[in-house]
Amino acid sequence: NAKKKGKNRYAWFEASMETDLQYRSELERGIRDGITNGEFVPFYEQQIDISSGDLIGFEMLARWRSPELGLVRPDIFIPVAEDMGVIAELSESLMAQAFRDARDWAPHLTLSVNISQVQLRDPLFAQRILKLLVQHNFPASRLDLEITESCLETDPQQVRSIIASLRNQGIRISLDDFGTGYSSLSQLRTLPVDRLKIDRSFIASLRDENADKTIVNAIFSLGNGLKMPITAEGIETAEVLQNLRDMGQFSGQGYHYGQPEDAASVTAMLASKGLLLGPAAVTREEGA
Ligand code: C2E
Ligand code: MG
Ligand code: MG
Ligand code: MG
Repeated sequence: NAKKKGKNRYAWFEASMETDLQYRSELERGIRDGITNGEFVPFYEQQIDISSGDLIGFEMLARWRSPELGLVRPDIFIPVAEDMGVIAELSESLMAQAFRDARDWAPHLTLSVNISQVQLRDPLFAQRILKLLVQHNFPASRLDLEITESCLETDPQQVRSIIASLRNQGIRISLDDFGTGYSSLSQLRTLPVDRLKIDRSFIASLRDENADKTIVNAIFSLGNGLKMPITAEGIETAEVLQNLRDMGQFSGQGYHYGQPEDAASVTAMLASKGLLLGPAAVTREEGA
């Protein structure tokens, strides 16, 4: 009986593994086709200067419009694209689209782009980015690259030198998901980044008397001490925003301000606020 049970379990395990492998290989094929067919598109989330309430820019968030799966979020396909070795190609195609979109926005609006640690293993990463900027006529000073602390896990020396060349060209670097990484504090001393983005897990549950408030407060002091501006991500409610206001100066983003939207919605929103460059927009519609 015990033997039979064991066998059943084994059969079940084997079947589920097969399904996973099948799912995985279908996902990989879908991603490969999706890149070829232009199914990966940038969505944009507003970033707000909290003290003035002004829009300061957008974070580009990758989406996959899959014919089979619908609109797929990056947590599903980014790790697979990394394993498949296509993350640089995918990321650069998204950036190219985003540079073309953002060229039509008022020139003070910045564009933040998430970078995978896999991309930073390429010693020529900085050159690739600069080439892409030139190709699409987008100023380095409007680009902000978001990296995470895990970027330093493989080759910290190389990543530091890549960051240095990017910053020399006027590109800003933000440390994303700050507070969730490994040995944050010791790395901050030597990691030349321009901004800390407090992870939304700390922000989402911010209440008056809880531990997250203490942690967020500590990150604000750290940012102030190191003269690094702070962005709070995942601001979902007016209550959270109010709690953050007591802590100091920062910029923010989150569903309280808006969900990530596609390029057409962003264009419409900016047009209604007078933040769209008229002639550039017309040129694009004509198919440039
Ligand atoms: P992230 O960079 O930390 O982006 C923030 C994520 O939180 C986004 O999820 C965004 O939609 C979501 N978010 C924003 N505001 C709120 C809020 O108020 N409440 C809640 N619950 N969520 C909020 P998304 O778009 O699914 O992206 C997930 C992650 O995927 C990103 O985390 C980023 O690490 C990665 N990612 C996105 N686009 C790219 C890309 O082009 N390249 C790479 N390498 N990674 C990307
Ligand atoms: Mg990010
Ligand atoms: Mg984040
Ligand atoms: Mg994240």
